[in-house]
Amino acid sequence: MLIVQKYGGSSVANADKIVNVAKRITNTFKKGNKVVVVLSAQGDVTDELLAKAAEINHEASKRELDMLLSTGEQQSAALMAIAIHKEGYPAISLNASQVGIHATRKYGNARIKNIETERITAELERNNIVIVAGFQGVNRYGDITTLGRGASDTTAVALAAVLGAALCEIYTDVDGVYTADPRIVKNAKKIDVIGFDEMLHLASLGACVLHNRAVEMAQRYRVKLVLRSSLSDADGTLIKEESKVEKVYVSGLAVDKDIARVSVIGIFDRPGMAYQIFSLMAREKISIDLILQAINSNTTKDITFTVPKSDLKTTLSLLEANRSIIGFEALSYDDKVAKLSAVGAGMASNYGIASTMFEALYDCDVNIIMITTSEIKISVLIAECDADKAVNAVHEKYMQMSHFGTPNKL
Ligand code: ADP
Ligand code: ASP
Ligand code: MG
Repeated sequence: MLIVQKYGGSSVANADKIVNVAKRITNTFKKGNKVVVVLSAQGDVTDELLAKAAEINHEASKRELDMLLSTGEQQSAALMAIAIHKEGYPAISLNASQVGIHATRKYGNARIKNIETERITAELERNNIVIVAGFQGVNRYGDITTLGRGASDTTAVALAAVLGAALCEIYTDVDGVYTADPRIVKNAKKIDVIGFDEMLHLASLGACVLHNRAVEMAQRYRVKLVLRSSLSDADGTLIKEESKVEKVYVSGLAVDKDIARVSVIGIFDRPGMAYQIFSLMAREKISIDLILQAINSNTTKDITFTVPKSDLKTTLSLLEANRSIIGFEALSYDDKVAKLSAVGAGMASNYGIASTMFEALYDCDVNIIMITTSEIKISVLIAECDADKAVNAVHEKYMQMSHFGTPNKL
């Protein structure tokens, strides 16, 4: 069968790890499978390349940054092919333009539009193991673009979808999806099976273990998706359609530290103000998350919302530039905040989930700045310095209350 395997940066961080992964790949190949491998840049290479650019120019052009960053994945791909050859097996490395991974124009955060399958299929027919550089695409100008941080997962799922792979395995440095980041919450529990919707929420709310667009794409194209460790043979986590998954109250907790709060203070309390503010953001494709509106006693109101940290500067200058049109008194912001979220399909039917979270936060003296809830999640905005303490406290309380369990177990 055709299997797509993706190995993250930590799994290929040095020569020994590359040789270890090469052995895993050839073991799969030896069993008679066709294997397509997607790789990330080694270790912290992407961050190092970004730092190198910043050392020279803080305002480096996004096009040139993409040109630079894409070399990280390309190095990994070539090194892996070299390692597989050493093992005595046939392999070929390809970058996005060689494969034909067509992406949108936007540098730094492009989306995959379509993928040509001819080259990969031809190489598989020549009995090659095909190694593809993740995280990159080619735009309509023939330029290399990158697909957003963590997006090698998305390259892998997209390839699995277009090639009709039987399985897409994402190999990383943990052996599955946990009820919280196991690096921060030592008691976090491994989840054997999780629904696409819950995984998508967790990934979008900060659980960086899987790229959110990878989950979205796997759901849309019905890709069989498994997350597992490149260091052990443990079973990993299967991500699949929710209807077949028992609905637990809470699947997991996620923390997003890449977020900033913006408050627009003293706006007239009349229709159309929210539209004026948020249409500005929409035009710049800035995604807004938590929104809170407060009415002041003097007929004005304040609107507070959160944006990704990387969009804070643009958000503030957009608002300043439109100050006279919107007519606000002041702007304030805080980029030392974090969003803590609990996600679970069974949450809607249990109101205790939210109050347990609030109680846990109260017990550890964490102040809540904003709250938002939906059928499948509760998020609170808190100070960034409280985030690790808060996620541990809420996790502990949810364990005590069996909130990670299924309703019939309660
Ligand atoms: P890779 O380089 O393999 O893509 P990432 O660093 O992107 O790896 O993702 C793996 C990391 O995700 C883990 O080391 C872990 O700290 C973090 N993580 C965050 N949330 C979770 C979670 N719910 N379950 C497992 N890991 C998580
Ligand atoms: N190397 C890229 C990053 O660090 C892509 C990835 O690892 O998925 O974000
Ligand atoms: Mg990753």
